[in-house]
Amino acid sequence: MSESDLVVELLKTIPTRRCCDACLSRRTGIRPSRQVNQVCRRLVDLGKLVREKGKCPLGNHTRVLNTLTARRSTRTTPAGSAGLGSEEAWRYVDRFCRALWNTHLDTGSPASLAEAITALRDEQIIPAHEANMMHTIRSLRNMLVHEDVDFGDHETAIARAAWEIIRAWGERHERALWRATKTMCGAHV
Ligand SMILES: [Zn+2]
Repeated sequence: MSESDLVVELLKTIPTRRCCDACLSRRTGIRPSRQVNQVCRRLVDLGKLVREKGKCPLGNHTRVLNTLTARRSTRTTPAGSAGLGSEEAWRYVDRFCRALWNTHLDTGSPASLAEAITALRDEQIIPAHEANMMHTIRSLRNMLVHEDVDFGDHETAIARAAWEIIRAWGERHERALWRATKTMCGAHV
Protein backbone atom coordinates (compact mmCIF):
# COMPACT_ATOMS: atom_id res chain seq x y z
CA MET A 1 0.00 0.00 0.00
CA SER A 2 1.44 3.37 -1.00
CA GLU A 3 1.74 6.25 1.45
CA SER A 4 -1.11 7.99 -0.39
CA ASP A 5 -3.30 4.94 0.08
CA LEU A 6 -2.40 4.76 3.75
CA VAL A 7 -3.46 8.39 4.23
CA VAL A 8 -6.74 7.92 2.35
CA GLU A 9 -7.57 4.68 4.19
CA LEU A 10 -6.84 6.25 7.56
CA LEU A 11 -9.02 9.27 6.82
CA LYS A 12 -11.87 6.94 5.83
CA THR A 13 -11.84 5.48 9.34
CA ILE A 14 -12.53 8.89 10.89
CA PRO A 15 -16.26 9.79 10.88
CA THR A 16 -15.62 13.37 9.77
CA ARG A 17 -12.95 12.12 7.35
CA ARG A 18 -10.42 14.71 8.41
CA CYS A 19 -7.41 15.25 10.63
CA CYS A 20 -4.13 17.16 10.81
CA ASP A 21 -0.71 16.16 9.43
CA ALA A 22 0.69 15.29 12.86
CA CYS A 23 -2.16 12.92 13.71
CA LEU A 24 -1.91 11.36 10.25
CA SER A 25 1.80 10.82 10.79
CA ARG A 26 1.21 9.23 14.17
CA ARG A 27 -1.62 6.97 12.96
CA THR A 28 -0.13 5.88 9.65
CA GLY A 29 3.47 5.60 10.82
CA ILE A 30 4.59 7.81 7.93
CA ARG A 31 7.48 9.90 9.25
CA PRO A 32 8.46 12.61 9.51
CA SER A 33 5.32 14.69 9.59
CA ARG A 34 6.80 16.73 6.74
CA GLN A 35 6.55 13.63 4.56
CA VAL A 36 2.83 13.37 5.37
CA ASN A 37 2.49 16.99 4.39
CA GLN A 38 3.97 16.26 0.96
CA VAL A 39 1.76 13.22 0.44
CA CYS A 40 -1.31 15.28 1.37
CA ARG A 41 -0.40 18.11 -0.97
CA ARG A 42 -0.13 15.61 -3.79
CA LEU A 43 -3.58 14.28 -2.87
CA VAL A 44 -4.91 17.85 -2.94
CA ASP A 45 -3.53 18.22 -6.46
CA LEU A 46 -5.35 15.01 -7.40
CA GLY A 47 -8.59 16.42 -5.97
CA LYS A 48 -8.82 13.75 -3.28
CA LEU A 49 -8.27 16.06 -0.32
CA VAL A 50 -8.92 19.62 0.68
CA ARG A 51 -6.74 21.35 3.22
CA GLU A 52 -8.17 24.00 5.50
CA LYS A 53 -7.79 25.07 9.07
CA GLY A 54 -10.08 23.59 11.69
CA LYS A 55 -10.29 21.68 14.92
CA CYS A 56 -8.73 18.24 14.59
CA PRO A 57 -11.14 15.48 15.66
CA LEU A 58 -8.19 13.39 16.90
CA GLY A 59 -6.87 15.93 19.39
CA ASN A 60 -7.53 19.20 21.09
CA HIS A 61 -5.76 21.37 18.57
CA THR A 62 -6.60 23.65 15.68
CA ARG A 63 -4.42 23.12 12.63
CA VAL A 64 -4.60 22.69 8.91
CA LEU A 65 -6.78 19.62 8.40
CA ASN A 66 -6.82 17.19 5.52
CA THR A 67 -10.38 16.38 4.56
CA LEU A 68 -11.22 13.55 2.21
CA THR A 69 -13.44 14.79 -0.58
CA ALA A 70 -16.56 12.79 -1.37
CA ARG A 71 -15.99 10.62 -4.33
CA ARG A 72 -18.41 11.16 -7.17
CA SER A 73 -18.44 9.18 -10.33
CA THR A 74 -17.45 11.26 -13.31
CA ARG A 75 -18.57 8.55 -15.66
CA THR A 76 -21.76 9.18 -17.54
CA THR A 77 -24.92 7.25 -16.88
CA PRO A 78 -26.06 4.71 -19.47
CA ALA A 79 -28.19 5.86 -22.37
CA GLY A 80 -31.88 6.17 -21.55
CA SER A 81 -31.35 6.69 -17.84
CA ALA A 82 -32.68 10.23 -18.18
CA GLY A 83 -30.03 11.47 -15.79
CA LEU A 84 -31.58 9.78 -12.78
CA GLY A 85 -28.85 9.32 -10.20
CA SER A 86 -28.98 7.09 -7.16
CA GLU A 87 -29.43 10.14 -4.96
CA GLU A 88 -32.53 11.29 -6.88
CA ALA A 89 -33.89 7.76 -7.02
CA TRP A 90 -33.38 7.43 -3.28
CA ARG A 91 -35.06 10.75 -2.55
CA TYR A 92 -37.99 9.81 -4.72
CA VAL A 93 -38.38 6.39 -3.13
CA ASP A 94 -38.10 8.01 0.30
CA ARG A 95 -40.91 10.48 -0.43
CA PHE A 96 -43.05 7.88 -2.13
CA CYS A 97 -42.73 5.55 0.86
CA ARG A 98 -43.59 8.34 3.28
CA ALA A 99 -46.65 9.16 1.20
CA LEU A 100 -47.67 5.49 1.18
CA TRP A 101 -47.10 5.35 4.92
CA ASN A 102 -49.23 8.42 5.57
CA THR A 103 -52.00 7.09 3.37
CA HIS A 104 -52.11 3.48 4.50
CA LEU A 105 -50.54 3.28 7.94
CA ASP A 106 -51.88 5.49 10.64
CA THR A 107 -49.03 5.11 13.13
CA GLY A 108 -46.74 8.08 13.51
CA SER A 109 -43.93 8.33 11.01
CA PRO A 110 -41.09 5.93 10.13
CA ALA A 111 -37.67 6.44 11.74
CA SER A 112 -35.92 5.59 8.51
CA LEU A 113 -36.56 4.65 4.94
CA ALA A 114 -35.51 1.08 5.75
CA GLU A 115 -38.17 0.89 8.41
CA ALA A 116 -40.79 2.38 6.10
CA ILE A 117 -40.09 -0.07 3.29
CA THR A 118 -40.13 -3.07 5.61
CA ALA A 119 -43.34 -2.00 7.34
CA LEU A 120 -45.09 -1.30 4.03
CA ARG A 121 -44.05 -4.73 2.80
CA ASP A 122 -45.14 -6.44 6.01
CA GLU A 123 -48.53 -4.75 5.74
CA GLN A 124 -48.69 -5.95 2.13
CA ILE A 125 -48.98 -2.42 0.82
CA ILE A 126 -45.89 -2.93 -1.32
CA PRO A 127 -45.23 -6.39 -2.82
CA ALA A 128 -42.05 -8.12 -1.61
CA HIS A 129 -40.32 -7.79 -4.95
CA GLU A 130 -40.85 -4.04 -5.28
CA ALA A 131 -39.85 -3.62 -1.62
CA ASN A 132 -36.60 -5.42 -2.39
CA MET A 133 -35.98 -3.05 -5.28
CA MET A 134 -36.52 -0.12 -2.92
CA HIS A 135 -34.04 -1.62 -0.49
CA THR A 136 -31.64 -2.01 -3.40
CA ILE A 137 -31.80 1.69 -4.23
CA ARG A 138 -31.48 2.56 -0.54
CA SER A 139 -28.42 0.30 -0.12
CA LEU A 140 -26.73 1.60 -3.23
CA ARG A 141 -27.25 5.16 -2.17
CA ASN A 142 -25.95 4.47 1.34
CA MET A 143 -22.86 2.82 -0.10
CA LEU A 144 -22.27 5.82 -2.29
CA VAL A 145 -22.84 8.41 0.40
CA HIS A 146 -21.43 6.73 3.49
CA GLU A 147 -18.97 4.09 2.35
CA ASP A 148 -17.19 5.86 -0.46
CA VAL A 149 -17.89 3.04 -2.90
CA ASP A 150 -16.85 3.87 -6.43
CA PHE A 151 -20.16 4.28 -8.21
CA GLY A 152 -19.82 3.30 -11.84
CA ASP A 153 -21.94 2.26 -14.77
CA HIS A 154 -22.83 -1.12 -13.30
CA GLU A 155 -24.14 0.36 -10.07
CA THR A 156 -26.05 3.00 -11.99
CA ALA A 157 -27.55 0.28 -14.20
CA ILE A 158 -28.72 -1.63 -11.11
CA ALA A 159 -30.25 1.51 -9.57
CA ARG A 160 -31.95 2.36 -12.84
CA ALA A 161 -33.37 -1.14 -13.33
CA ALA A 162 -34.62 -1.25 -9.73
CA TRP A 163 -36.16 2.16 -10.29
CA GLU A 164 -38.01 0.98 -13.42
CA ILE A 165 -39.52 -1.95 -11.52
CA ILE A 166 -40.74 0.39 -8.76
CA ARG A 167 -42.04 2.91 -11.25
CA ALA A 168 -44.00 0.26 -13.18
CA TRP A 169 -45.67 -0.81 -9.96
CA GLY A 170 -46.22 2.74 -8.68
CA GLU A 171 -47.85 3.94 -11.87
CA ARG A 172 -50.14 0.92 -11.96
CA HIS A 173 -51.14 0.60 -8.31
CA GLU A 174 -50.56 3.94 -6.62
CA ARG A 175 -50.89 6.28 -9.51
CA ALA A 176 -52.11 9.32 -7.59
CA LEU A 177 -49.43 9.10 -4.92
CA TRP A 178 -46.75 8.36 -7.46
CA ARG A 179 -47.68 11.42 -9.50
CA ALA A 180 -47.96 13.59 -6.42
CA THR A 181 -44.54 12.50 -5.23
CA LYS A 182 -43.10 13.19 -8.64
CA THR A 183 -44.39 16.75 -8.60
CA MET A 184 -43.17 17.21 -5.05
CA CYS A 185 -39.64 16.11 -5.96
CA GLY A 186 -39.60 18.06 -9.19
CA ALA A 187 -38.38 14.87 -10.82
CA HIS A 188 -38.49 14.77 -14.57
CA VAL A 189 -38.62 11.04 -14.86
ZN1 LIG B 1 -4.53 16.30 14.90
